[in-house]
Amino acid sequence: MNYQNKTVVITGAAKGIGAACAKLFFDAGANVVLLDVAKDTSNINDDRRLYIHCDVSSETQVNEAFQKVEQHFGSVDFLVNNAGIQRYGTVTETTVEEWDLVMNVNLKSLFLCSKYAIPFMLEKKKGVVINIASVQAFLSQQKVAAYTTAKSAILGLTRSIAVDYAPHIRCVAVCPGTIDTPMLRDSIALSPDPDEVMQECVDMHLTKRIGTPEEVAELVMFLCDDKASFITGQAIRIDGGLGITIQGSKR
Ligand code: NAD
Repeated sequence: MNYQNKTVVITGAAKGIGAACAKLFFDAGANVVLLDVAKDTSNINDDRRLYIHCDVSSETQVNEAFQKVEQHFGSVDFLVNNAGIQRYGTVTETTVEEWDLVMNVNLKSLFLCSKYAIPFMLEKKKGVVINIASVQAFLSQQKVAAYTTAKSAILGLTRSIAVDYAPHIRCVAVCPGTIDTPMLRDSIALSPDPDEVMQECVDMHLTKRIGTPEEVAELVMFLCDDKASFITGQAIRIDGGLGITIQGSKR
């Protein structure tokens, strides 16, 4: 796929899935804008890469970031709403502050970035918004009340954007299973036996392995291409078959 003269804005692009998306789009010739709160990649700026330190849950910072994007590249063709955080807890364990934080980073930021990116796409009458959700939009585990709620709501936002801005702008949710990223490694490290938890993650998937950030990035890039122009408003799972079996169904 050739993305020359196209501009993609990727949130949470310093690490994990976002970083893999940034690399793939850059390698395909795109101008890449990386929005992140992490500071360690601020030295990667060059003529096709713009790193902006931005908390994507802050309207002021998102507004300023898109002004910089306009000055630098003039427009936005694709938005990859990827930034996300994980906090563990049931409803009774989760504090109001944790709930608000997860909602702000994992849901409100998608609204904010879409709000500022879509006008550029409307000018061109073309564009794609990709929202990174999770299989946790469909399935749940214990102690992820805020996370699973935010990820489920992303599917509603995806449909709204798809309906409101059709036919020119498409919006698709991507729902990964377990992917080998710093987020996963950090979560597993919280457990008393990280190796056992990793093995459980592997065993949950029919593929008997977890996914890579690059596999998710390949899907994101395909969905942005005109080859995917008949796909909009959908939630696409990339999850190694996680959750499609009935427990105890082995013969
Ligand atoms: P990660 O923690 O490895 O990377 C996330 C990036 O987002 C980091 O660089 C972080 O600094 C950035 N970020 C966090 N809060 C931010 C904010 N307020 N503003 C700007 N940037 C911010 O995570 P990942 O595993 O690559 O996850 C990426 C997305 O994929 C998330 O939305 C996550 O929920 C989703 N996801 C991940 C998995 C998985 O197994 N790793 C599975 C399903 C869905």
